[in-house]
Amino acid sequence: MQTAVRKGQPVRGFEFDIVRADGGLRTAFGHAMPLFDDSGEVRGGIGVFVDITERKRTEEALRQSEAELRRANQDLEQFAYSAAHDLQEPLRSVSIYSELLQRGYRDRLDAQADQYIAYCREAAVRMGSLIQDLLAYARAAASPDEAAEVADLNSIVSTALRDLDATIEETGAEIHVGPLPSLSVEPVRLQRLFQNLIGNALKYHKDGEAPRVRISADRREGSWVFSVEDNGIGIEAQYHEQVFGTFKRLHSRSRTGSGLGLAICQRIVERYGGRIWVESEPGQGSNFQFSLPLTLDPRRESR
Ligand code: ADP
Repeated sequence: MQTAVRKGQPVRGFEFDIVRADGGLRTAFGHAMPLFDDSGEVRGGIGVFVDITERKRTEEALRQSEAELRRANQDLEQFAYSAAHDLQEPLRSVSIYSELLQRGYRDRLDAQADQYIAYCREAAVRMGSLIQDLLAYARAAASPDEAAEVADLNSIVSTALRDLDATIEETGAEIHVGPLPSLSVEPVRLQRLFQNLIGNALKYHKDGEAPRVRISADRREGSWVFSVEDNGIGIEAQYHEQVFGTFKRLHSRSRTGSGLGLAICQRIVERYGGRIWVESEPGQGSNFQFSLPLTLDPRRESR
């Protein structure tokens, strides 16, 4: 108030501590205004103060729990990564020795023994792919191990499609890719994202109907929205959020997978500050969409 009176100008939005008579410390937030008389001389001042002690305390508690949550998440990620990584070694032994058993002892044991060995091999292969997915999941949100570069998403999608070549051929899929932008991203992550989504579009096709997949991008308010649309079996509305959870699978019996694919996609998208969601009806196909902020687009100004 003294400053307001001395300078003849309002002082807005300042915070200060007050020690009360009982020793209690409070924080206040205030504005001060000078009061003028008819001749324009400062005659006094008026101040408005609000006690914001509780709000400050709540903000501080919130900040602390956020920091704790972040730390706990990092610990968990680190744990998942180490556990998955360390599991690879014993798994390698199981793989190698069951393969040696299979090759060296075929027809020397009885048929049932051959079958058990085959089950071991299959389980080892499956566990291997689960561990790979877990590692990918732990890595998906980790700090970048390679710098972002301006990458043409058309060529990223082409690479993803090349990796899916065998499945595309096998299912007789028809793939249509619309024009895609170039963005500042880490190509490997985006490739994984598209590969998971397109892979699912191929995997969850209707029996007796070849998959048709459309990949496109659309510029909307503040972001690029990408879409991977299929004509597959679709997903019931009640599962539209759950499918992005870890190990969440709806059609587990008939198809292979770890239930981590979409969880990995979500992590990659969120890492860039985007969002992922699905629009789908059972029997009507699915449209998986994700947004990436326009700030990743190096040409955003000139458009
Ligand atoms: P999975 O390894 O089982 O494919 P994902 O995390 O990729 O794991 O997907 C989770 C579940 O979501 C799948 O098990 C499947 O039930 C459902 N799903 C994913 N993509 C599609 C799709 N394009 N069409 C229908 N269902 C899908």
